[in-house]
Order: sequence, then structure tokens, then C-alpha cells
Amino acid sequence: MSRGVLESRYAQEAAQALASMEASIPSGNATVHSPIDGSLLASIATEGPRAVQLAVEKAKAGFAAWSRTPAPRRGELVRRFGEELRKHKTDLAHVISLEVGKIASESLGEVQEMIDICDFAIGLSRQLYGRTIASERADHALRELWHPLGVVAVITAFNFPGAVWAWNAALALICGDAVIWKPSEKAPLTALASSALLDRAAKAFGAPEGLHQIIVGDREAGIALVENEGVALVSATGSTTMGRDVGTRVARRFGRSLLELGGNNAMIVTTTADLDLALQAIVFGAAGTAGQRCTTLRRLLIHETVYEELVDKIKSAYARISIGNPLEDGTLVGPLIDARAFDRMTDALTAARREGGIVFGGRRVLEDRFPHAFYVEPALVEMPGQTEIVRQETFAPILYVTRYQELREAIEANNGVRQGLSSAIVTRDLAEAETFMSAQGSDCGIVNVNTSPSGAEIGGAFGGEKETGGGRESGSDCWKSYMRRVTTTVNYASGLVLSQGVDFMLKARE
Ligand code: NAD
Repeated sequence: MSRGVLESRYAQEAAQALASMEASIPSGNATVHSPIDGSLLASIATEGPRAVQLAVEKAKAGFAAWSRTPAPRRGELVRRFGEELRKHKTDLAHVISLEVGKIASESLGEVQEMIDICDFAIGLSRQLYGRTIASERADHALRELWHPLGVVAVITAFNFPGAVWAWNAALALICGDAVIWKPSEKAPLTALASSALLDRAAKAFGAPEGLHQIIVGDREAGIALVENEGVALVSATGSTTMGRDVGTRVARRFGRSLLELGGNNAMIVTTTADLDLALQAIVFGAAGTAGQRCTTLRRLLIHETVYEELVDKIKSAYARISIGNPLEDGTLVGPLIDARAFDRMTDALTAARREGGIVFGGRRVLEDRFPHAFYVEPALVEMPGQTEIVRQETFAPILYVTRYQELREAIEANNGVRQGLSSAIVTRDLAEAETFMSAQGSDCGIVNVNTSPSGAEIGGAFGGEKETGGGRESGSDCWKSYMRRVTTTVNYASGLVLSQGVDFMLKARE
């Protein structure tokens, strides 16, 4: 295995885990640090626009062969990939923890999600159904076919360094597409390892060259992919700022984009709620993954009758929550990804105070043990209303809490932000639950009842509205994003019959 400068205990652990998956780290000048203690994990080579162009050419050649492979055969490749993931679940999860600081259970959960989407995609590979449509003309057959789309670029964020690519890659592959992955510059090791597992499966299967590739690079590499006319679909996950740029560039060349962007997710706790259940869902939703999930609970709207009791319960849970090294048993909250994330959290709390908020928690901790890492207490901030800072996504464990009187008022607050990803209501009242799920209720892509807004199963369509980008990935019929739709009309009548009764018959010459 070739590797860059590897130091520290964690660098060695990462190198060992990568070696077990036959993944190599191309040596270079970009550095990858562990958020656990700030130590150097690897020095790694990055690629830019020229490599992107070459990758697209290779992917186009791979696509030409792959798109002719029957879909159930394509499913066989994904099955083999799923097997590799099962075999290396622990190693890959360990790399995720080292690289992005997730607690072991969440990292294992992320790999499980990769396995689940493979299983889902295998089944789908025999179910890429088109419709037969009733024709208005006699002796005509109207059908819808789904064909492979082309080269799919997948740009991913740091916080789900493996799963989001797997959602895209597993579906794109069974749909007959070639995939180029540009992972987050903060998490290239997970990407190299995941990609090596797919390589092993592809080699054993005999898949065409160029079918899946990885470009380790930064924003510039991402932009080169986004602008490349050879890329049919850009599936991009990250901040709204990134998505606005990607969406605009892709639209300019009439490409397709699938955007999964920021969230600012709320939970409503009504007067009939089971407060113990609410508490569990709140603490996991707001403090889990150190507040670094797109579906993290950021805004809590509590009915005034239960406000004091629930806020006291959350404060007491926050005071007890174990913050620390994510590799140690019992830790529930690991570190923030880097110093920038900590600065943003600090700035947001300052703004919240300025806007009338009362902050509980939110301090940096474990500085003596980890002077180069950023561990924080989850913050609970009692706010006078949905002020400006509350309406922004800060990618850190900050929970803004407000009280409400009428459900309508809480739903308006839930919807009163620019993002529209996830939402939840905790209630025992059926009418409240149904109202929240109805068209007059939450305007988000994900609407939950009596469970946290954070996290989702792969079987459903994942994504959200407004500044979250409108994309849907993973389950349900999301596969359609990775294919192109063709409507065919076959006339088996004896002459030409036009639709809508149009008469266009050539007159016989007089
Ligand atoms: P980010 O926007 O900084 O980076 C995401 C990816 O985009 C990286 O690979 C980066 O290199 C690339 N990139 C950045 N600018 C680009 C550009 N102009 N053109 C092409 N590529 C570009 O996001 P992050 O800090 O890694 O992740 C956190 C954000 O991601 C949060 O806002 C979170 O809500 C969001 N997120 C959303 C989902 C979802 O499914 N909706 C899932 C995970 C994360």
C-alpha cells in the first residue's frame, strides 16, 4: 500500500483499516486531520480539472458498455459490493469515526445504511418498471421506457462520508450509469476505502473500466465536474451556498441536478405529548452526531403548558450527557469537525444572546485533554421567538427553544424558515398528528410523528423543499432520477391516425 506521511496512533489505525480494504492513499500535500484530537491522519494528493476531464472520458466509455448490460446483471455487481461492505463493516466504520468523529454506533449505522441501500438496489434491478398507457387512438400502443442516463457525478459532504455516495452509487449503477465521486475534502479516507470495496466487487464481477471513479479534490474539482458537459446528472450534497452555485452552473448547460442541502429542522411538542419519549427524541436529534446532521433538530416549539417541565428535563439530560472521544464506550457526543465549525457555533451563540436568547451549555470542554480538537456541550437556547439567528442553519449542537399557544402558530414557525428538510411532532392527539402531516401542515420533505426529525430509513425518499434543494434520494421511486424517460407510440393500424383528431390527409391530385 502506498501512503503519505502518516503519524499518530490514529494515523496508524486509519492506515491499517484502509490496508485491510486494499485501499491506498495517494501521497501528496493536502492534509487530513482527525477531529478526535486534531492529529494528522494522512497527507494526500488531490486532483483538479484535468483529472476530472480524463475521468469523464473514461466514465463515458464505461457507460457505453454498462448501459448495455441487463439491469439484473448490474444488480449482481451491487450485490457483491454489499458483501464487501458486510465483510469490512467494522473497518470502514472505524475510518469514519477517525475521520469525522462519529461515535462507533453511528459509524456502524452509516455502514449499515450503505448495506441497506445495496439490498434495496438489488431488488430494484429487476423492477425498473415503465408504464403501459391507454392510447386514445385505435390500434396504437403507448408505453414509457426507462433508459440509463449517462455519467453521474456525486459530490458529498463531510458528515455522511460514505452513506450519501452509496445511496447514489447503488441506484445509479443498477440504472446503468457510470459514477464519478468527489468526496468532501474533509473525509477522503472514508471515500478511498469505500471506493476500494466497490473496486474489489467490480474486479470480481468483470465490470467495465471507468464505471466508478473517485476524484479526491476540493471545491475546484467539484466545479470542474459540475461544468463538464459529459456529466448528465450532478447529485450534490452540502450547504445551501454550495447548492446555489452547483444548481446555477448545471442549469446553465441544461444538465440535471439533484440537490440535498441544508436543513433547519423543528419539532413541535404538544400539550398531549409523552414527555419522556419527546426527551429521548430531542436529545438524540439535537445533540447526536454533535449536531452535525442535515436532519439535526435545531428548533424546538413547546406548548406553553408543558414548556417548563420539558425544558427542565432537557437541561438535566444535557448536564449528564457524555461528551468525549467517540471511540470510547459510553460516549454519546463526539467532537465538532474542526475549528471553523467551533467558531461558527460561538458566533451563533453570541448572535442568539444579542437577539434575546438565554444560553444553557454550549461551552468548549476537554480542552486540556484535546487542545487541538473541538468538543462542546450541546447548547439549549431559550429564545423569545423565531429570530434571525434561529432561522439560519448552524452546523453544531444548538437547540433553539420557544413556546407556543396554538398549533397553527407552531406550524407557521415550523414552516417559517428558508430550509424545508425534516420536521416532527410529538403528540397523542390524532387530529394534531394528521394536521401536521397534511398539506396545511409541515412544508418539509420529511414529516415525523412521535420520533425524532433526525435520521431516516433508506426505503423512503430522502430530501426536502425550498433551500434544501428539492432533490429526493434513496428509496421509493428515486431511481427515476438516474434514468431517462422515453415515451414510445407504436401504430399498428393500417393507416396514419393523428392524435386529438387532427385531419392532415393529403388530397388526391385532381
Ligand atoms: P459544503 O457545502 O462545504 O461541501 C460539500 C461538498 O461540496 C464538498 O465535497 C465540497 O468540496 C463541495 N463543494 C463546495 N462548493 C462547491 C461548488 N461551488 N461546486 C462544486 N462542489 C462544491 O458542506 P459540508 O460542510 O461538507 O457539509 C455540511 C452541509 O451539508 C450542511 O449544510 C448540511 O445540512 C448539508 N447536508 C445535507 C444533506 C442532505 O441530504 N440534505 C446531507 C448531508 C449534509
